[in-house]
Amino acid sequence: MLVYSSVDALTGELDKKRPASIGFVPTMGALHKGHLGLVDQAKKENDIVVVSIFVNPAQFNNKNDLLRYPRDLENDLQLLNSRSCDIVFVPTEEEIYPPGYQEPDLDLGMLESVMEGKFRPGHFKGVVMVVKRLFEIVRPDKAYFGKKDFQQVAVVRRLNEAFELVPEIIACPTAREASGLAMSSRNELLTPEQRQDASILFRTLTSLKEKVKPGEDPALLSMWAIQNIEQNSSLKPEYVEIVKESSLEPVSRFNGTPVVACVAAWAGNVRLIDNLTIFP
Ligand code: AMP
Repeated sequence: MLVYSSVDALTGELDKKRPASIGFVPTMGALHKGHLGLVDQAKKENDIVVVSIFVNPAQFNNKNDLLRYPRDLENDLQLLNSRSCDIVFVPTEEEIYPPGYQEPDLDLGMLESVMEGKFRPGHFKGVVMVVKRLFEIVRPDKAYFGKKDFQQVAVVRRLNEAFELVPEIIACPTAREASGLAMSSRNELLTPEQRQDASILFRTLTSLKEKVKPGEDPALLSMWAIQNIEQNSSLKPEYVEIVKESSLEPVSRFNGTPVVACVAAWAGNVRLIDNLTIFP
């Protein structure tokens, strides 16, 4: 496994390997089985797998969240080596945002004003900045993202449509702990009690799915879900939104188009998100 921190060294190596197909998995490190699932899928579908590890300051709307974000490069490299990852890119901030770096001109429309866009102002601007730059550096054939960050996948697809950077964006299923809690680097910041409590999110989403019937009012289901989290855990829900899978627009009824329920909640000072397709 090769590890690079310089853009020139990485692109030099990748140019030698082309036309081998390149699968790319961008991450912020503190890797867990969710990330490794993406690596495994990339490995199956490409000749070479490149994983980037870069905690992108531009996408943190909360400075404390950035400071506390878990980092463990040594362990990450060991895990990636065990998955036969070919190349790890661990750039510095200067390599990603060199002087004169131009922020992409991209209107995310509604994606920026609902759910994560609404509660984390500027977050997706930062995601767009880093993903565009990483795509331009790595120039992969396929790029892999987790459905756990459902809205992020939509943002990346929008970016990719606008700038035609990568032939295929692939969304991979959410890896979960035995309790149902979606794996996340931030789970490391939870106390054992909070971690146990946090399984309420997936339990609420699965119960919500069982409640869906044609004619059911999505707004009432969202209210039920918020109450269920508040009454049965120490978590503080920020939103539960029931939206069209294709456009992320709120749905007013269940009528054939796939629908996803998305949740964000605070466990102490750790913010967690999850989602589940609830219809059909
Ligand atoms: P992050 O390091 O949190 O930026 O995540 C890097 C990639 O891994 C993103 O595409 C995430 O959506 C994905 N990812 C994070 N957690 C999970 C999970 N539990 N299951 C599947 N993919 C995940």
